[in-house]
Amino acid sequence: MPQELLLQVTPEIATNELLLKDYLSKQIKVSVAEIQHISILKRSIDARQKAIKINLKVTIYLGGEPFQETKIQLPDYKNVASAQEVIVIGAGPAGLFAALQLIELGLKPIVIERGKEVRGRRRDLKAINVDHLVNEDSNYCFGEGGAGTYSDGKLYTRSKKRGDVTRILELFVAFGASEDIMIEAHPHIGTNKLPQIIQDIREKIIECGGQVSFETRLTDILIKNNEVEGIVTQKGDTILASKIILATGHSARDIFELLDRKKVFIEAKPFALGVRAEHPQSLIDSIQYSCDYRGEHLPPAPYSIVKQVNGRGMYSFCMCPGGVIAPCATSPGEVVTNGWSPSKRDQATANSGIVIELKLEDFKPFAKFGALAGMEFQKSIEQRAWHLAGETQKVPAQRMIDFTQNKVSLDIPKTSYVPGTTSVEMGQVFPGYLSQILREGFTEFGKSMRGYLTNEAILHAPESRTSSPVRIPRDPLTYEHVQIKGLYPCGEGAGYAGGIISAAIDGEKCALMIGAILNK
Ligand code: FAD
Repeated sequence: MPQELLLQVTPEIATNELLLKDYLSKQIKVSVAEIQHISILKRSIDARQKAIKINLKVTIYLGGEPFQETKIQLPDYKNVASAQEVIVIGAGPAGLFAALQLIELGLKPIVIERGKEVRGRRRDLKAINVDHLVNEDSNYCFGEGGAGTYSDGKLYTRSKKRGDVTRILELFVAFGASEDIMIEAHPHIGTNKLPQIIQDIREKIIECGGQVSFETRLTDILIKNNEVEGIVTQKGDTILASKIILATGHSARDIFELLDRKKVFIEAKPFALGVRAEHPQSLIDSIQYSCDYRGEHLPPAPYSIVKQVNGRGMYSFCMCPGGVIAPCATSPGEVVTNGWSPSKRDQATANSGIVIELKLEDFKPFAKFGALAGMEFQKSIEQRAWHLAGETQKVPAQRMIDFTQNKVSLDIPKTSYVPGTTSVEMGQVFPGYLSQILREGFTEFGKSMRGYLTNEAILHAPESRTSSPVRIPRDPLTYEHVQIKGLYPCGEGAGYAGGIISAAIDGEKCALMIGAILNK
């Protein structure tokens, strides 16, 4: 019988098949030649001790034991060209995985996306980085693949349902992601690999008879007697359908405004807000791996940190080892940061959102906006940062210790944020009490991670699109909107997901709910 083993090995052994075979042959007392195959089932780094170890879960097949290489396959997608239509708004992870699931169920997805297809999007990303021009329909948040396309492509989630997570990871592999994502404790894909995977998903949807329309923005939802009848696009087209999956993401402010105007029930939702901190990657490596030099067998180190400060959680968010800070505004007149990494995570700097959890009471100054109070609060901070940094896509920046000491930094070195930075006292970007929490929080972080609190670290502001400032409430059993029949609020924008994997899972769930009704 093949043996399953848990082991701790050096990074060198973990990354060298011959050394691993040799190590295992001694462990199980057989010759190297007797080992037919080693399957790695799980891999994680244990950096708690000075000598870093890699935890592996492996299955060892000896000669004569049945072993067959299995390749993850795509599900059995049907041809749905003449099947019943379901409208999916938004081609982010929620919308795309909803569309795939609809096809599996024998239903025809009509996907409507305001942004451009994945390659065409690149030109608009260049325009925002180089010319400071924000296209309101095509940017780091809007376009094929949604907000996650030009990201680090981290694929971990707090979702407890491992089955759901495994299914999404398998789909990513079947569409071209490395099989490594199935075994890594903290898998990621990288911004250079995601676009092709996204394009392949779209091509599969079309090959199966589904439709995908780019540069097509939803401008109205047709509702009669509290039931959806279809949608209207900015081109003036009307598309009729009795089921609509609304997966427009957390940055589609016009959608929240539309729903509010139409008196479709929505509610303000707390989110988190703060800055994006950038350190030299070598410094993070030395803190996390307790070494001067990471060496060639360990990946650029990530970090994750959380503290309670003045009764609020302050934590790292969407940390990108070896990455770049990206300009993620979706409208002119605002600045927003987030981060991405290539698959090798080989850039010189590490960046992470450092954010504070907000409470509904923080939105009180914007109470007149009702359900949109949190969104208006978020917008006001992004606009203030834009103004303070000079009304381009440059962002306010400050050295970390200077910030904790309330001192404007005399100089800001070049950072990975391509549009550039302006030295600003960060306290001006946020309400005073939030700036104070950030100041104290960074001091606390410095106590837990020695070396983290340093003037080598540059803070960029704001990190404000951590999750949706609005919830579009739905029935927990049917996933239908609480008031409008046939409307399925989905993914991060509706407040039911945070990150690529959970958005994809939510997309599938909404499709399954619809399938259960239409295929009855
Ligand atoms: P979105 O991805 O936001 O997709 C919504 C789609 O709807 C968009 O394509 C948008 O153009 C479209 N849309 C909006 N309004 C309309 C309209 N009116 N008509 C038609 N279409 C419309 N998450 C991770 O898990 N790992 C990461 O490493 C990671 N890194 C990130 C890096 C960056 C730079 C950014 C911006 C986000 C990152 N995220 C990451 C977050 C992740 O991308 C989101 O959680 C996820 O994409 C949400 O999926 P979604 O489908 O719900 O919404």
